[in-house]
Amino acid sequence: MSGELGLRDFLEKAGHTLVVTSDKDGDGSVFDRELADADVVISQPFWPAYLTAERIAAAKNLKLAVTAGIGSDHVDLDAAVANGVTVAEVTYSNSISVAEHVVMMTLSLVRNYLPSHQVVLDGGWNIADCVARSYDLEGMHVGTVAAGRIGLAVLRRLAPFEVRLHYTDRHRLPREVEEELGLTFHESAADMVPHCDVVTVNAPLHPETEGLFGDELLARMKRGAYLINTARARIVDRDAVERALRGGQLAGYAGDVWYPQPAPADHPWRSMPHHGMTPHISGSSLSAQARYAAGTREILESWLAGRPIRDAYLIVDGGALAGTGAHSYSVTK
Ligand code: NDP
Repeated sequence: MSGELGLRDFLEKAGHTLVVTSDKDGDGSVFDRELADADVVISQPFWPAYLTAERIAAAKNLKLAVTAGIGSDHVDLDAAVANGVTVAEVTYSNSISVAEHVVMMTLSLVRNYLPSHQVVLDGGWNIADCVARSYDLEGMHVGTVAAGRIGLAVLRRLAPFEVRLHYTDRHRLPREVEEELGLTFHESAADMVPHCDVVTVNAPLHPETEGLFGDELLARMKRGAYLINTARARIVDRDAVERALRGGQLAGYAGDVWYPQPAPADHPWRSMPHHGMTPHISGSSLSAQARYAAGTREILESWLAGRPIRDAYLIVDGGALAGTGAHSYSVTK
């Protein structure tokens, strides 16, 4: 809101109108009112403006939806395809930011960092309590669901910890990469999770991944394993995760993605045991913000000048999945 992605001068000097609002939910929101004649909608995934099929149908002038970040699942991609709306995101802008967050959360769960820090804040010195759930990461089996930009960056960052690395993905990585990192490939998440002490989710939310981690897949994980999800909340079943933590099937859950966002004050993930959740911040470090603001500007410059948007930025274009979208997403029709 405050920085307006640095777009106001650029757009107004070119004769366009920029409306910036956080009033985007509920009947009669500013977003709904402005959508009636908007040509372009820009949203961040962190506090998204959900572009549902109904909203896309009501937005008669809408031609371009830009995600200032990565992950365009807040846009109904089926509806974007059907209505010829181009969807673009700033590929790579925050991939390393998220990968670093995944590594931080992995160590923090396995080493029992947050409860131990709480002991310090509370004035205590209960070392036995702190270490009762604390292990070394070294020697553990760590697997990623998806080895795209973030998933592969996580694998690279974890390799020096001398862990055994696993992955599953729709496309297999080059043999040299598998050999360099000592990766074990599995055909599916169901095949991979029984081998892993830590599982990290790095796939987009789309029809193939929605609800993937429900009771069934969680039950296939090793008892006492850790699950880290910085991808999208709806890839896991909210209540199944809570049940698995309370029952001991999961030793810990961390991530920064919730549904809906912002998460309500009574969201069960705020109070479930052994969690290390943050609000949706991993991809929004100041370093990442500079990159996705620049990428948003580049997408708008191309679009306004009638030049093609970089293929890597495209999710939907010309009534079909395109660019990065064609590689990493699916639609139902
Ligand atoms: P990429 O497109 O680089 O990678 C996604 C990978 O997921 C691809 O390799 C893709 O496979 C794979 N994949 C897709 N469907 C499946 C499936 N059903 N099973 C296994 N693998 C699958 O995306 P990024 O790594 O940049 O980002 C991943 C997701 O992380 C984003 O879509 C977004 O939701 C989330 N994200 C979260 C952020 C945060 O702040 N928390 C910030 C940025 C992203 P292939 O292409 O080989 O078909």
